[in-house]
Amino acid sequence: MIRFCNLYSGSSGNSTYIEYNDTRILIDAGVSCQKIVKGLSDLNVSLDMIDGILITHEHSDHVKGLTTISKKFNIPIYATNKTWNQMALLKLPEYNHIVFNANESFDLGELKVHPFSIPHDAVDPCAFNITAGNKKLTVATDIGHVTKGIYDKLVGSDVLLLESNYDPNTLSYSSYPYFLKRRISSDVGHLSNEMASKVIKKLYDDTGINHIILGHLSKENNFPELAYQTVVNAFGEIPKDFHLSVAGRDTVDTVLVI
Ligand SMILES: [Zn+2]
Ligand SMILES: [Zn+2]
Repeated sequence: MIRFCNLYSGSSGNSTYIEYNDTRILIDAGVSCQKIVKGLSDLNVSLDMIDGILITHEHSDHVKGLTTISKKFNIPIYATNKTWNQMALLKLPEYNHIVFNANESFDLGELKVHPFSIPHDAVDPCAFNITAGNKKLTVATDIGHVTKGIYDKLVGSDVLLLESNYDPNTLSYSSYPYFLKRRISSDVGHLSNEMASKVIKKLYDDTGINHIILGHLSKENNFPELAYQTVVNAFGEIPKDFHLSVAGRDTVDTVLVI
């Protein structure tokens, strides 16, 4: 059985916990070390039990906690070479650098990690399929648009954490400067509620996917209720066998056992 828990998700910081037998990992550490320690303690896990931290890309909402974590704990950190170059400023100790290649699978303890490239304005951004036993989890955020290749990676997920970053109307009226609005809504920015809901509906129709968590919501340009409702609208009515939730920005989600 895999245990999966979103510790934090959103434009202000991301970290996801995954456990299978004796292997425990985080995807991203984009909040303070203290918050991660606190989040994990809710699951009766401590940071020194973590076998590795997978990094999706170098933006601060994914790496903010790494410097302090590396000072206090001896945890291998996994990133692509290009992402490592961008993270030089964080001054992470060399002995914990582990390099993976986007689109090449590898083992992390008893988990199999399958990184795949995503369109986002970072040097080498990745999302992850994580498999163990016959189960598959996908964590896919910070995606400008969903290509056919990405769609195929989402297929077959027992649980999919998919970005639903912004509501286009809220974004257009927000106080963000124009360049930032353009960046967010560009092909290499973030997924809107509408884009996410279309992908989810198609995945359900094509493949019967039945467990989705909406994540990486913008604090300024979205609301959890709106992200949720946009998916409901795409379906008309949420089917009985379909689980839909919104990841907490600042609250540790319920642990899923898959
Ligand atoms: Zn990003
Ligand atoms: Zn992000």
